[in-house]
Amino acid sequence: MAKSTEVKIAVFGRAGVGKSALLVRFLTKRFIWEYDPTLESTYRHQTTIDDESVAMELLDTAGQEDPLQREGHVRWGEGFIIVYDITDKGSFEDVLTFKNLLDEVKKPKNVTFILVGNKADLGHSRQVSTEEGEKLATELACAFYECSACTGEGNITEAFYELCREIRRR
Ligand code: GDP
Ligand code: MG
Repeated sequence: MAKSTEVKIAVFGRAGVGKSALLVRFLTKRFIWEYDPTLESTYRHQTTIDDESVAMELLDTAGQEDPLQREGHVRWGEGFIIVYDITDKGSFEDVLTFKNLLDEVKKPKNVTFILVGNKADLGHSRQVSTEEGEKLATELACAFYECSACTGEGNITEAFYELCREIRRR
């Protein structure tokens, strides 16, 4: 049997946007309300995408790392998920900071990443419209997903799979 393709994915975004919750949702199809915000973890996940066996390595960043550690995370990753919280405008503004960091470290290579607006279940306190998210993704030339780690809406699995496909196409 052919051996698995390996892909390394790191998740970035302001503290509290739901990076850990999204990863846990993807991996277990469950939602965990409280997750140690200071915890940095890596997960391995074996799956099949388009009939091909893929070994995913996933890094959940904690956002407390010093610049050197953060740079190390970017070097390590082959693809990235930048997450913001649709109820937190500041987290949306942070997206560009993360994108610039990725560009900085990976240059002259193009960075493979997707943009995820999380907490779509909290529409009543929304501060970032779907259109704003789509517009930013168009500007940054990346795929965009709005979803909720809490309810599972927005096809989180597909977002992760699409990123894997993009990594493999490079
Ligand atoms: P991280 O710091 O980016 O890893 O964020 P966490 O995964 O620790 O989540 C921060 C807080 O937001 C926690 O209280 C979660 O329960 C909550 N949270 C995460 N995702 C969602 C979501 O999709 N909907 C709602 N309502 N709350 C969420
Ligand atoms: Mg976390």
